[in-house]
Amino acid sequence: MKKILVTDPINEKGIKELEKIADVTVKTDMSQEELIDEIGKYNALVVRSGTKVTREVIEAGKNLEIIARAGVGVDNIDVGAATEKGIMVVNAPESTSITVAEHTMGLMLTLARKIVLADKSVRRGEWNRSKFMGIELKDKVLGIIGLGRIGSQVSLRARAFGMKILAYDPYIDEESAESVGATLVELDELLKKSDIVTIHVPLTKETKHLISRRELKMMKNSAYIINCARGGIIDEEALIEALENNEIAGAALDVFEEEPPSDSPLLEFDNVVLTPHIGASTVEAQRDAAIIVANEIKRIFDGKPPQNVINMPSLDRESFKLLKPYIELCEKMGLMITQLAPDKIKSLNVVYAGEISEFKSLDVLTRTLLQNILNPILTEPVNIVNAHTIAEKRGIVVTESRRPKADNYKSVIQIDVETKSEKFSIEGTYTNKPKIININGYKVDVEPKGNMMIVKYRDLPGTIGAIGTKLGEHDINIAIMQVGREKPGGEAVMVLKVDQKVPEDVLEEVKSLKNVEDAVFMILNN
Ligand code: NAD
Repeated sequence: MKKILVTDPINEKGIKELEKIADVTVKTDMSQEELIDEIGKYNALVVRSGTKVTREVIEAGKNLEIIARAGVGVDNIDVGAATEKGIMVVNAPESTSITVAEHTMGLMLTLARKIVLADKSVRRGEWNRSKFMGIELKDKVLGIIGLGRIGSQVSLRARAFGMKILAYDPYIDEESAESVGATLVELDELLKKSDIVTIHVPLTKETKHLISRRELKMMKNSAYIINCARGGIIDEEALIEALENNEIAGAALDVFEEEPPSDSPLLEFDNVVLTPHIGASTVEAQRDAAIIVANEIKRIFDGKPPQNVINMPSLDRESFKLLKPYIELCEKMGLMITQLAPDKIKSLNVVYAGEISEFKSLDVLTRTLLQNILNPILTEPVNIVNAHTIAEKRGIVVTESRRPKADNYKSVIQIDVETKSEKFSIEGTYTNKPKIININGYKVDVEPKGNMMIVKYRDLPGTIGAIGTKLGEHDINIAIMQVGREKPGGEAVMVLKVDQKVPEDVLEEVKSLKNVEDAVFMILNN
């Protein structure tokens, strides 16, 4: 049975899910040394933000397959080290979307109705109703910066309040925006027209101080700004200036450039609402995060496609269904390439042709290919997480391209290989089963399965017979034979499916036959 270690407190329901699939140990007060000592026994590690999953921990995790973060941020995990070791890092990005969206709505209402100030005033014994004149959200313009998981949920909720939604997100299309009731606009237009601006982008080089002096000046004097995303997206110095100069009406912040914002002048403003990074803190979000990662671990242990892997391309169920046949084809083609290559592979050019070329992400196929090329020749396990890193380390240049047409097939994968001493190419397709349809430009039609022999020869009378006879002499039965040739008397390729293994000495005898240039025997399991 697989073993899972949980080192931060996670929801009971998540633990119950994990217990259905593995032997679970919960130890929430481990020192770094204890963790390093013990991690070797486990197949999966489940953490929240408390445990520091350093390179040392990862290197000590000899049996570790998965590091799961029951939540969103993975700042506490050395993802690079995990990738090098082929360990998947999974999280639960969906778990907090509703929770953060609801917090945003809460802050919006708090600003619009001055709820915090009114509360404080009542506690002081005051009863000043006119002081807290608010505004309705209905008919106000909400500007959402970043219309991803959380931004979309905010949009849906704000629509229910009768707000008009503008969104700025250069990475999504108009249809997706419309589907959540938002209209895409440029950032400047959003800032100028919105009564409330709310930020839901990740903190990146591009979004750092996305909202600074220029942007705040563009906003209406009556407008509010909310940040439930990450500190640093709003330039706090500029925000303080804007508040001091009454350039905007107020702000609500759940995140800060420095947390906690102990000495910040922001604490002094009555029209600023502050919460201590609790956007994701609900019972439901924590429960869902634990359940989501438990299911993710189960899927990976069962060999199913993971959905929230940070260090490899994730596939949704639909994409997996469509790509599955080609994943199988790439496994077979990878194994063939590794056995066909006479020496070090220098480069691989993978061409995806036909219908498959329209698929958004094909990286998982290229990774599967690399995994199957590299795994048979390396001691360290190569999987789809570390395949690119290991290929790069071994100096293999991998390029990927697409071609809309695939001649007579629906989809074709063509791989051009360059090794130290030669170049070769194979093409494969999938029609009910994986098929190799071209080797070095010669058409064939063979299922890559079982014992296969590929012979390069000159198409002259007697050569095919001599090869058959030679194998027969050694009691090797030919089940299928296919020849692909350019022209009579020219270069040709023969693919043989044989019932027995072809030993090295027999292969040498075949190679020494007249007109035979090369012969390779390979085993491709079913
Ligand atoms: P997401 O990846 O689903 O959405 C982010 C969106 O931002 C995407 O649609 C992307 O296209 C867009 N985007 C990226 N760069 C942009 C740019 N330069 N300009 C405009 N749009 C851009 O992320 P999410 O799950 O919705 O999370 C949004 C934010 O909320 C993140 O910063 C996340 O860290 C934060 N978050 C905060 C809390 C909290 O406790 N307050 C909890 C969870 C998430």
